[in-house]
Amino acid sequence: MSVRPFVSFVGAGPGDPELVTLKALRRLREADVVIHDRLIPRALLAEAPAEAEIVDAGKAPGRHCVSQSQINWLLIERARRRGRVVRLKGGDPAIFGRLAEEIAAVRGAGIDFEVVPGVTAATGAAARTGISLTARGHASMLVLATGSDHKGHDVAALDWGLLARAEATLVFYMPVQALEAITTALTAMGRDERERALVVERAGTLDEQVVAGHLGDIAVRCRAAGVASPAVLLVGATLDVASVPRAVRHLTADT
Ligand code: SAH
Repeated sequence: MSVRPFVSFVGAGPGDPELVTLKALRRLREADVVIHDRLIPRALLAEAPAEAEIVDAGKAPGRHCVSQSQINWLLIERARRRGRVVRLKGGDPAIFGRLAEEIAAVRGAGIDFEVVPGVTAATGAAARTGISLTARGHASMLVLATGSDHKGHDVAALDWGLLARAEATLVFYMPVQALEAITTALTAMGRDERERALVVERAGTLDEQVVAGHLGDIAVRCRAAGVASPAVLLVGATLDVASVPRAVRHLTADT
């Protein structure tokens, strides 16, 4: 029997297994193969059929398990051989998720695909801390920026002057190794060091940690608290109403 190759790039949300769409669940339940990242709620894998092949393409920082070109090859090879491939990515696949490279590979091979969006870490963290990222009168822009380059070390070559001036909520992904560099760059370019800043580690998971402070001290506070990746850094006047959340409790059938 011939199979119809098809790849679904599916957002798995930021950590709480209940933060996925009905479409994401449906694709998982119909998958022949699931190729997933490291940062996905593991409970979601149980939604795939027992006979589905599960491939862990996760890359720990600095430890390359499966290279990007191997992932591209896997997507094409499995789709041709098995049919329905779900490429499960943390958060939203279109935000800092190497989606462009993978779509280019799949498209280049003439394979049909779709993108199923997910809740990204920025909105996941905002939800946990009760802030509106675009609160009227406080932020007319939302900036999703990368806090480190593709090697995960240096601070990205961003337009710091623009970011310092913008009446925006700034959300930095992958900021942990670069907290000092980011906050120093923003204040050096004129952003007020008394502005509220928040770091949310593992938003929406049982290991969530929230560190609240100001641009001038958030890096020191995070070091003291031992904040590790994955975490996002939020900066802006919209954070003035932020609340540190109560412990996460997942409402599952057996609780
Ligand atoms: N596509 C993902 C982002 C992938 S890049 C999304 O849309 O969310 C990986 C980075 O995302 C991490 O380094 C961290 O900055 C952020 N991230 C992912 N999950 C997170 C979580 N549960 N809490 C805080 N930050 C998270």
